[in-house]
Amino acid sequence: MLQWTDIVRYAKYGNPEPDRRVERTDAGWQEILTPGQYRVMRQKGTEPPYRNLYCRSYEPGRYVCAGCGSDLFNSTEKYHAISGWPSFTQPAGKAAVKYAFDDSHGMTRIEALCNVCDSHLGHVFPDGPEPAGLRYCINSQSLRRVDNR
Ligand code: FE
Repeated sequence: MLQWTDIVRYAKYGNPEPDRRVERTDAGWQEILTPGQYRVMRQKGTEPPYRNLYCRSYEPGRYVCAGCGSDLFNSTEKYHAISGWPSFTQPAGKAAVKYAFDDSHGMTRIEALCNVCDSHLGHVFPDGPEPAGLRYCINSQSLRRVDNR
């Protein structure tokens, strides 16, 4: 189980190696993503709170990256954070998400990205539920829910 100290260490000193990499040109991303997905995932945009697909959805399944299909989160780690965005307290695996410091908008936050294709997902905060205390605040645009295998 990842703790906040792990997240800060990954952001500072480097993330675990993913088991594969997916890379595309900017034009390539524009081709496969919707304009909304492109704005969030490749331009680090933020979708509106509450008016997004998975905010209030608790269907069982896996949440994969909308850009490369990699496993990011499981519905079992999804919880209601009253933030207006889908929130998870753990990722699907230690190497699923990549962490980076984000000093934009006059704040220091930790950005969450797909570790396989570097698409922007959202941010991680240390105010989630016990025992891990993590809150992954994620844009629905970056996710696709699929049924469990
Ligand atoms: Fe990805």
